[in-house]
Amino acid sequence: METTITRGASVRSAPPIRSAAGGRIAEVHLYLHDLPVKDGPYRIASGDVWALTTTLVKLVAEDGTVGWGETCPVGPTYAEAHAKGALAALTQMAPGLIGAETLPVPLHARMDALLHGHNYAKAAVDIAAHDLWGKRLGVSVSDLLGGALTDRVASYYSIGVAEPDEAARIAAETAREGYPRLQVKLGGRPVEQDIEALRKVWEVIRGTGMRLAADGNRGWTTRDVLRVTRECPDIPFVLEQPCQTIEDLVKIRGLCHHALYLDENAISLDVAITAAGTGLADGFGMKVGRIGGLHPMRGFRDLCAARNLPHTCDDSWGGDIVAAACVHIAATVDPVRMEGAWLAAPYIEGNYDQENGIVIRGGHIARPTGPGLGITPDEAMFGSPVLSM
Ligand SMILES: [Mg+2]
Repeated sequence: METTITRGASVRSAPPIRSAAGGRIAEVHLYLHDLPVKDGPYRIASGDVWALTTTLVKLVAEDGTVGWGETCPVGPTYAEAHAKGALAALTQMAPGLIGAETLPVPLHARMDALLHGHNYAKAAVDIAAHDLWGKRLGVSVSDLLGGALTDRVASYYSIGVAEPDEAARIAAETAREGYPRLQVKLGGRPVEQDIEALRKVWEVIRGTGMRLAADGNRGWTTRDVLRVTRECPDIPFVLEQPCQTIEDLVKIRGLCHHALYLDENAISLDVAITAAGTGLADGFGMKVGRIGGLHPMRGFRDLCAARNLPHTCDDSWGGDIVAAACVHIAATVDPVRMEGAWLAAPYIEGNYDQENGIVIRGGHIARPTGPGLGITPDEAMFGSPVLSM
């Protein structure tokens, strides 16, 4: 019997292959930019935030393609990160980045060889490299990350530590706006006020379908969190990072009526693997900056998919560049596990990109569809670079 072999389509129209070599870093520029808090302060258990300095990274490849990155710690007491630390870490790495490959595996290897730790600074370079590669290839960052599952990414609103009646008023407003999820910041005050705030918020969002997170931001003792969970068994919130340490969370884990999410303690993929593998966490609040950028975030996303753990994709603060990075990775997460991309946008004025800047409408964010991050910052806003090489 004869076998017929059907040949595939002709390859004569195959596009030219973009070489990694042309994508090596030729120039690094660092900028600082102020992001005042609108109607400030933004109040969390670790303190009040009035204004933030964001650090921007512009990478220029050998072929002239430009990529933008950003990192913006939310003040010096929220995490092991601060604005001057970001600038110092990036300044330390910058000379060694010239000539480095921008594909994520060799880029992270180079950054790790130049500086140990400092994920939040490396994240800005990682985001810029993803932007640059997306622009080189003419595809979006979400395509680079494996492909989007949605063009409409869910966000969530975060109410800073507020008087119970004020928290309830804001909750009602955000429910009307269409946010699918609400986070209430708690801690740093008598726990009775936190319990009252949770009760009043629940009274106004009950029946709306809005999900609720009670975020202690490490501010509760184990004594406090046990009171919160025992006195509110009827309110279906998740407890987000209630205590300071992993050891505290292990202590309360089996005593809670509520699901437990890790945020500030999930400082690396390594910690996330242990928390998922030992069953400590029912989910995560994850920051692109804290884990070191979009490349490690992709690994984190897949780890959570393997264990069916919900998580957020956000960052602690930042403008359009951080926001676009969060939306692109969030778009690649199965919406069933997506707890939302929180953006600082409602708390800051304006956009870096007047035309395609990231905005939240009806509690959701449209995925940018242009190449790379899909936004082009107005460079003039940032003034002269503080470092160029
Ligand atoms: Mg949190």
